[in-house]
Amino acid sequence: MRDKDVTSSRRGFRAVLKPREELRIKRGHPWVYDNEIAFVEGSPPPGAEVSLFDSKASFLGKGFFNPSSKIRLRLYSRTGEKADKAFFEKAFSEALAWRRRFFDDKKESQRIVFGEADNLPGLIVDLFVGQVDAGKPEPGPVGRWLSCQFLSLGVELRKAEIVRSLAGILAPDGIVERSEAPVRALEGLEASSGVLYGTVPGNVLIREGEAVFSVDLSEGQKTGWFLDQRANRAAAARFARGAKVLDVFCNQGGFGILAAKAGAAQVLAVDSSRGALAAAARNAVLNGVGSRYSTVEANAFDYLRNLEKEKAKFDLIILDPPAFAKSRSSVEQAYKGYKEINLRAMRLLNRGGILVSCSCSYWFDEHRFETMVEDAAFDCGRRIRLIEARTQDMDHPIVSGYGESKYLKCRIMELR
Ligand code: SAH
Repeated sequence: MRDKDVTSSRRGFRAVLKPREELRIKRGHPWVYDNEIAFVEGSPPPGAEVSLFDSKASFLGKGFFNPSSKIRLRLYSRTGEKADKAFFEKAFSEALAWRRRFFDDKKESQRIVFGEADNLPGLIVDLFVGQVDAGKPEPGPVGRWLSCQFLSLGVELRKAEIVRSLAGILAPDGIVERSEAPVRALEGLEASSGVLYGTVPGNVLIREGEAVFSVDLSEGQKTGWFLDQRANRAAAARFARGAKVLDVFCNQGGFGILAAKAGAAQVLAVDSSRGALAAAARNAVLNGVGSRYSTVEANAFDYLRNLEKEKAKFDLIILDPPAFAKSRSSVEQAYKGYKEINLRAMRLLNRGGILVSCSCSYWFDEHRFETMVEDAAFDCGRRIRLIEARTQDMDHPIVSGYGESKYLKCRIMELR
């Protein structure tokens, strides 16, 4: 379907909720599930803009309709505006204004759009500012590139308008699509990737704190780099001076290389992805810390067990696993996984050592996370002194009423 078919409708499609289903929506949640809707008027086509009303006919907002998703409607507005050029330009300007409170978009890589938390359901846009990495010692031209994920039908069908607006507002050198996340299937969409605008190099060198990282914009995991952990990587590096560091689930080396730059004596970085490790090793060399940095390709669970058998000891351990709980039903199973790696990491820490433990699973909430860490400490007879309970960086805003926007936990703890 072309952009025009869904956006130019004047028929005024309406969806009406069943009685008492409006509270969560009124508190700020943007999703309406199929079983909460009493009826839909006017047979809206997939992706159409539909106005939402409660059972007493009060207007609640306007959203993108998807008849083949359990999330039938994703609200993008509480005032009823059309999702046209003016809407996207305003939404992107507002998203940028929030980031400009904290960051400089001419110099710093950052997430520009964080989906529903920026009233743009299913749209993720990361900005990478840096230099083309041509694989030679001297870096290439300076530039700014956007890496996007279109994870809902509503934004998928408005891709052309979104790309035009982003290009107009941010004037990037290129825009690449990385819509490969499995959640697209729940929206009835197949994976899609490629250059949408301008030119996009394979790799770019971005700066983060004291380090530079080569980020693969077309093949790296997610949009290429985990921006949400930036402030946590800096926070962890404060404990690195002179330390023996273990960076578990290291991906392209973020935590460990910043620790090495901050004076770590030695960094051992573990991941199961060979591609990620090759990138991490190269990043270490780019930062002049190659001689203090080594990588291991292994399953973290097995490798932690082996280190324990060898009676290895560390001063700083980072655990940044992928989401073990991807739904409500997997929370119990996830607890076991998180607890196992935390317990093993604690056993590997010297007295007074620091554990930086993360979970990016929304379903595994703050309370469960805290309990899991305390259970692990109890089981290995150690006590924790909490240094910081952190979350995602500010370019991933947390909004009230939409709990899914608060997903990242990062506890920095001293182990006694
Ligand atoms: N710490 C990284 C991000 C980690 S993302 C940063 O700051 O950028 C999670 C990583 O875990 C991915 O690189 C993935 O390849 C790796 N991974 C997933 N399952 C694993 C396993 N069982 N053992 C080791 N690594 C794993």
